[in-house]
Amino acid sequence: RLKEGRALAEDVWSIYNVANLPADCINLGQGYMNFPPPKWVTEAANTALQGVAENHYSHPKGRMRLRQAIKAHYGPQFNRDLDVETEILVTSGANEGQYSVFVAFLETGDEVIMFEPFFDQYLPSVTFNGGKPVYVPLHPPKTEGKNTSNEWTIDLEELKRAITPRTKMIIVNTPHNPVGKVFTREELEGIAALAKEFNLIVMSDEVYDCLTFDGKEHVRIATLPRMWERTVTVGSAGKAFCATGWRVGWLIGPPTIIRPTLAATTRIVFCTNSPLQEAAAAGLEQAEQRGYFAKQREEYAERRKILTDAFDKLGLTYTLPEGSYFILLDIKKVKFPDDYPFPPSVMGRGRDFRACWFIALEVGVSSIPVSEFYCEEHANIGEVYARFAFCKDTETLKKAAERLQKLK
Ligand code: GLN
Repeated sequence: RLKEGRALAEDVWSIYNVANLPADCINLGQGYMNFPPPKWVTEAANTALQGVAENHYSHPKGRMRLRQAIKAHYGPQFNRDLDVETEILVTSGANEGQYSVFVAFLETGDEVIMFEPFFDQYLPSVTFNGGKPVYVPLHPPKTEGKNTSNEWTIDLEELKRAITPRTKMIIVNTPHNPVGKVFTREELEGIAALAKEFNLIVMSDEVYDCLTFDGKEHVRIATLPRMWERTVTVGSAGKAFCATGWRVGWLIGPPTIIRPTLAATTRIVFCTNSPLQEAAAAGLEQAEQRGYFAKQREEYAERRKILTDAFDKLGLTYTLPEGSYFILLDIKKVKFPDDYPFPPSVMGRGRDFRACWFIALEVGVSSIPVSEFYCEEHANIGEVYARFAFCKDTETLKKAAERLQKLK
């Protein structure tokens, strides 16, 4: 069924994978850390690996210890006494959780609205399940020069015009990948009003919920009036505990959404790997008392500054993110030779694909071309940006900052 176009093409994470780049290239591309999860979390993983039940199938809903930990950690944030049997579902990463929601709810031709740019995975996850993606722009900042992620704006009239009788769902992503935008309460209220008026499901991807900066408040759309019953919120142990390869995530929502999604996830993976669910549970159980998330936010704010200082020194424009661990750099002024030996996977794509390849090979720092976060028709809007991830230790970021001065 997957014959041509982007569905079959190599995805951006594979093209700019460290395996394809020189060994000494600093990876600020795919968003994962170059440090391990906290000791107290990996110790819990080690302990779980010595157990018996912990090495076998878990209940498809997820291991009870993790569901309890999710309830305790997130319940207060949703102002709810979450039911571990019907309102929480552990999934094999956030991706699989989202995919399962689409499997459970999309009928052929159903439309799913996403703000563009969007995390690339949404598009195939929707189309593979017969859905039709509908794009509503996150408008780039109007002024030239440095900007912040909240200058990327949505137009609620545009959102309303995108809704048709076939619209089934809206995807919200806050903090946003790749823009770093943290949606304001007002913006979310506007989206919520339309979701209620047109009876839509909201899938709220909040995997970067633990990473907001400058005191910016993370608002959960599920907590707005009468939104709980139509919203499924997505979370991730990978982002929370520096363990993106664990593939442990979760969904929180009403039984009407969780029940069909459980049926889907049961048939896709049956259950999520058991021992690392125990470790994720330990993470959530102890995070508060250890002041873990507050400390993490401070560390990430420092990491962000190392890169923004480097871009300032270069005189290049970027979007200062209020959340997530990505910075969009405006690469319009970055020059490279047209006859550079680019690999076939990069040729025929946007200018940003070539720019990112050139920067990776000649400057020694990898990044991700942002046109991948746009549909093919709108790729030109994204190709003026490269996305740099700052989920790396400060020493690595300082070295990257130094190397990037070569772009001058
Ligand atoms: N979320 C990660 C990023 O944006 C990538 C996830 C993936 O590789 N599918 O960098």
